[in-house]
Amino acid sequence: MTSPTQTTISVLIEKYDALFFDSFGVLIDGVDALPNAVDLIDQMNADQTNYFVVTNDASVSLDSRVETFASKGFSIPKERIINSGSLMTGYIAEGDLQGIPTLVLGTQDAKDYTTDAGVRLVSLDGNEEPDLVVIGHSGPYDWKSTLEELLRLFSRRFQQNNPVRLVLPNPDFIYPNGPGVFGFGAAAFVNALEQALERLHGPHDSLIATKLGKPHAPIFNAAIDSAGTTNAVMIGDQLETDISGANSAGIDSAVVTTGINRRSTPYEFEVLPDELTPRYILASLV
Ligand SMILES: [Mg+2]
Repeated sequence: MTSPTQTTISVLIEKYDALFFDSFGVLIDGVDALPNAVDLIDQMNADQTNYFVVTNDASVSLDSRVETFASKGFSIPKERIINSGSLMTGYIAEGDLQGIPTLVLGTQDAKDYTTDAGVRLVSLDGNEEPDLVVIGHSGPYDWKSTLEELLRLFSRRFQQNNPVRLVLPNPDFIYPNGPGVFGFGAAAFVNALEQALERLHGPHDSLIATKLGKPHAPIFNAAIDSAGTTNAVMIGDQLETDISGANSAGIDSAVVTTGINRRSTPYEFEVLPDELTPRYILASLV
């Protein structure tokens, strides 16, 4: 791959039929709107630009997310937000899993995404065992005891040739929790469970979680479907999720310098493997 070129947002709007925006590090910094992000959204709404916010969020409902954006000055309709929680519907439909007894660890909103998809909720200590476990959010659990219970369940069912399905909507390992402060995402706990299961049983696809969010294919496929085009560009701040995922999905990518990525000149990307290299560097949203 050639090294990235500097570009501007107006060039991207002109060149592509759809624009996908990451949320944290691109539109907001975790607390406030980033410079010009609100004006850009207003302009795209007025011009009916085909844009979507593509975010790994799985713990908050789309309605709440719209309100959070509004509190920072953004008018982003929920039809323009594609998050990993709402991908549960496609996962359940594609696997023909309606009615499957399901354990969801996470917030009430995480549970709602899963019940909206047509499953039946069960608890870890109830009479009926789950056939599907969704790790929807990192809190609020005692993870040591919860993971030990899950390890027992997944191990036993694997040995009975009747593995429990494991789904991780949001594959973020850490997440920003204020300036310089990070929390462990649900992926950290799923990763511990997967590693423990591999130590016990060796590598098996049935012991690995299905991941729905960036950098994995389901969220990009959903965005491409909603946009109705593959002539799209993903604008993000994380090379390992936004850029790598866009590259795998076969769409172009632009990295901003307002979030986790701080590389701002093409030569700084030369040491990186192709899959992490964006097509463009976008210095600002102006
Ligand atoms: Mg980000």
